[in-house]
Amino acid sequence: MGYREKSFWLETAGEYQERPPLEGEHTADVCIVGGGFTGVSAALHLKEKAPGLRALVLESEVVGFGASGRNAGFSMTLFGLAPEVTLWRFGAARLREADEYMVRAVDLVRRRVAEHQIDCDYEENGLLTVATNPAQRRRLLREMELARRAGLHETEWLEADEVRAQVNSPLFCGGRLDRHCALLNPAKLVRGLARAAQQAGAEIYERSPVLEVVPGPRVRVRTPGGAVAAEKVIFATNAYSARLRPLRSRQLPVHTYIVLTEPLSPEQIAAIGWQRRQGLEDGRNLIHYFRLTRDNRLLMGGHDALYYWGSQDGRDRNTAVQQRLQEAVKRIFPALAGIRFTHHWGGPISATLDLAPLIGRVGPNMLYSVGCMGHGVSLANLNGATLADLALGRQTDLTDVFFVDRQAVPAPPEPLRFAVAGTLLTGMRLQDRWHERGARGR
Ligand SMILES: Cc1cc2nc3c(=O)[nH]c(=O)nc-3n(C[C@H](O)[C@H](O)[C@H](O)COP(=O)(O)OP(=O)(O)OC[C@H]3O[C@@H](n4cnc5c(N)ncnc54)[C@H](O)[C@@H]3O)c2cc1C
Repeated sequence: MGYREKSFWLETAGEYQERPPLEGEHTADVCIVGGGFTGVSAALHLKEKAPGLRALVLESEVVGFGASGRNAGFSMTLFGLAPEVTLWRFGAARLREADEYMVRAVDLVRRRVAEHQIDCDYEENGLLTVATNPAQRRRLLREMELARRAGLHETEWLEADEVRAQVNSPLFCGGRLDRHCALLNPAKLVRGLARAAQQAGAEIYERSPVLEVVPGPRVRVRTPGGAVAAEKVIFATNAYSARLRPLRSRQLPVHTYIVLTEPLSPEQIAAIGWQRRQGLEDGRNLIHYFRLTRDNRLLMGGHDALYYWGSQDGRDRNTAVQQRLQEAVKRIFPALAGIRFTHHWGGPISATLDLAPLIGRVGPNMLYSVGCMGHGVSLANLNGATLADLALGRQTDLTDVFFVDRQAVPAPPEPLRFAVAGTLLTGMRLQDRWHERGARGR
């Protein structure tokens, strides 16, 4: 499959002129591996903060080939898996610190779009997290109380009739509105940021997979056509990090999938409302997320998340999940019973075993970022800035954040890795099913 088939966004983002691969021997101050949000954002920040240095991005396919060109396009404040998990693992002060970082991350994306005039269908309409059964309603109310006590940014509670007045599903029985969330076209955003990084003086090489990394005072990074000797290396390889030996135990690639409908007719839109075009999620563990595209297609993703034996990262379609997502669209919106589905795709997100992001180092001059947990559109962009500060050796309010250089739980090798991932995911699945069956039995 070519990159255009990896998502609706990559298919429709317009003509794309690929950049040439790396050829020959190079030296650089900073070599960045991976051309997604993290990589291009790090390159842009580096050139803004230290215009004189040489920063190279090496991307194995094309910019936006990974999750950055395939995600649902929610730029949002969610950190890690859920606030309760962050509180349990790190405590209230760090939960607040994470929230402040995420609010800042959403602000950064808005600012980047404006200052570089990136045409990426950016619309800041908020995120409505809906409850579709009483257990989800209780969970959302509990989370709001926790957020209030911990001093997190404000959200609002909407009762069932208020939610249904905004988006009409017979299943919605309450919801939390977070106004600090935007929707965008991720492929257009990552391409726009890559252009901005290049205009600032960063170099980007595509079709340049890093095959070998040799540590040393200058790290040597080899691709099929060339090599770079770099003072610092930033691994911005996210869920693909299992391919690189030093990062193998730092995270697991977990796949999530999306289905997309044909454009909704004016009658279908009228039946479900959604005039404010906000992003929607539900309160499951393995969430459903939904949104409208610029041309009013309904995008829905989630429902399940899959870890494949051996940390495989290329299982980009799954017909069983596709089927369940299509059924879920019709169950949640019965008014769309006859809707036709036109696209299905997916990709790997990066999950750490303690379900929180991690910015770390291997050795004195190699940095990495993993564990965006499916919430990386805003987070990966700000992480790029944090990585840039770290690479420059600067101590800033970004580099002081608690998940930089934190102690993480290493992922064990197979077969234990498969068992651990399977147990975590099965626990989440069973609880979701239990809550849904309970609600149907009422
Ligand atoms: C289906 C789906 C839906 C999602 N929806 C949302 C959402 O709505 N909101 C949200 O906040 N997050 C969402 N996410 C998560 C979000 O997309 C990611 O967290 C974010 O894009 C991560 O960006 P990144 O740059 O770190 O990684 P990526 O975009 O994955 O980039 C990593 C890059 O590294 C390259 N690479 C890998 N190995 C090498 C190598 N050896 N040499 C050179 N290059 C290499 C890859 O080709 C890839 O382009 C979703 C993810 C998926 C898969």
